[in-house]
Amino acid sequence: MEGECFMSKVRVRYAPSPTGPLHIGGARSALFNWLFARHFGGTMLVRIEDTDLERSTREAEELILDSLRWLGIDWDEGIDVGGDHGPYRQQERLALYKPYTQKLLESGHAYECYCTEEELEAERQELKARGELPRYLGKCRNLTAQEKEKYIAEGRKPVIRFRVPDGKKIVVDDLVRGKVEFDSDGIGDFVLVKSNGLPTYNFAVVLDDALMEITHVIRGDEHLSNTPRQLLIYQALALPQPQFAHVSLILGEDRSKMSKRHGATSVLQYREDGYLPEALINFLVLLGWSPEGEQEIFSVDELIEQFSLERVSKSPAVFDMNKLKWMNAHYLKALPLADLTHLCLPHLEKAGLITKETAETDLPWLEAAVDAVREKMEYAAQAPELMRVFFGDTVLLDKDNEEVKQTLSLNTTKQVISALQQRAGELTSWDSATVRKLLKEIGKEIGVKGKALFMAARIAVTGQSHGPDLNSVLTLIGPKRAALRAKSVLDQL
Ligand code: GLU
Repeated sequence: MEGECFMSKVRVRYAPSPTGPLHIGGARSALFNWLFARHFGGTMLVRIEDTDLERSTREAEELILDSLRWLGIDWDEGIDVGGDHGPYRQQERLALYKPYTQKLLESGHAYECYCTEEELEAERQELKARGELPRYLGKCRNLTAQEKEKYIAEGRKPVIRFRVPDGKKIVVDDLVRGKVEFDSDGIGDFVLVKSNGLPTYNFAVVLDDALMEITHVIRGDEHLSNTPRQLLIYQALALPQPQFAHVSLILGEDRSKMSKRHGATSVLQYREDGYLPEALINFLVLLGWSPEGEQEIFSVDELIEQFSLERVSKSPAVFDMNKLKWMNAHYLKALPLADLTHLCLPHLEKAGLITKETAETDLPWLEAAVDAVREKMEYAAQAPELMRVFFGDTVLLDKDNEEVKQTLSLNTTKQVISALQQRAGELTSWDSATVRKLLKEIGKEIGVKGKALFMAARIAVTGQSHGPDLNSVLTLIGPKRAALRAKSVLDQL
C-alpha cells in the first residue's frame, strides 16, 4: 500500500520565512505536512528560512510558531525543541552551506558573476522589449582571471550563479501535479549565493532538505516553478531528492488569488476574532484535500487517519468565508458554556460592555447571557453585537422599523409598556417563570395576547422588533433595568 515502503521514516518540514504572521496558505502547508507525518508516524520539523535579512524578524518567527501551536500543530524538531539535524534556523547554518558552494564552483556547476544591478536591469529590459522571458543570459559564465581581477579592483562583489545546462528538459514528478516538464532554456543562470555571502532560497532549501533528510516536500504551488532549479542543484551535488507535492493555490470566491479582500489572511486574525483552532483546521484541510465520503466535520484524529496526498486536488481551492463561519459555529455549539463565555469575555471588554472586575463578579450572569445568544454566534467577536441588548438602563426606540411602527400604531402597545414599567418597578428580582406569569397577567389586564403583547413588551425593553428570546432578555436584565428601559421608551413616544 501507499505508505508501507516509507512507514516511520517519513520526514517532512514546514519552512516558513519569518517575514510576517502565519497566513492561511502557510497554515495549510504546515497542516498537510503535519497530517502526513502523523499519519505515517514520521517526523515533522519546522525550519526557519531567514536568509532574507531585511525582511526576517524574530517577532514574526515567534508569531508564526505561536499560531502553529494555537492550531495544535506540533513538531518534533525545530528551533525551540532541538533535534539532531539542527540548527533549524538558516542564518545559523551558513557554515554548513560553504563546502557545497565550493564543490559547485570546482565542478563548474557554478560561477562568480560580477554584473551590477544596473547591467542586469538593462538586460531584463532588453529581453522584455524583444518579447522574451527576462533571465540572466550568462555574461559572466566564462570570465578570465584577468577580467575577474579587474572587476574586483572596481570594488564589485560577486554573486555565485548556477550554470543551467542548455536545451535540457527538466521533469518534476509531483505527487499532486503528476509529471510537469520545464525547459532549462527558460530558466537562466540563477543566483545561489548573494553578494553578501548569504544563500538564496533555492540553494539553502535544497541543502537543508537534503541534510535534514527530508523525504517529502509538501508546499504551495507558488514554488512549483522553483522546483526545476532545485532539481538541478540536487543533481549537480548528487544529493538524494525528496518527493515533491505541490498543493494548489487558495483563491477567493471571485477566483482571484486569496487576499485580504476575501477575508482575513492571517491566522492570528481568526484567533482574535474568536474562531476555534479545531474549526480552522477542519476548514483548512478541505482547501485542497477531500475525503472519500460526504463527511465535512472531522476531528483531528480522523484527519490523521484519513489524510493522504492521493486525495489532494490539482485544482485551486476556493476560500468560502461562509463555510468557515458555518464550521466555526458548529464547533462553538459543541463548546462547554464556561469555555464559550471565556472566549467572549475579551470581546465584551473591548466593546466596553464589561470590565475585568465585572467579568469576575458577574460571571454566572454573563454565562447565562452567552447561552441566550450562542445559537446565533458564528465567532466570538460577534458577542458584543449579539449581547449588547442585555446591557444598559435605557434603549433607543427604532422608530424607522416597520414592525416597530406597526406595533406602536396599536393603542394597546403603550398600555403594555406602561404596565410592564409599573409591575417591574415593584419587584427586586424575577426568574423566567415569574416573567412568563407577569406577561400573561399584563396581557389579561389589558386584553391583548400573542404578537400584540409580546412585540409590545419586546419594544418596551429593547426598542427593537428583533433580538434574542424575549423571556431570556427580561430574565437577564432583571426588573429594575426592565422598568428603566420601559420608561426610556415611553419618553421617546
Ligand atoms: N520559505 C519558503 C516559503 O515560506 C518555503 C518554501 C518551501 O517549502 O520550500 O515560502
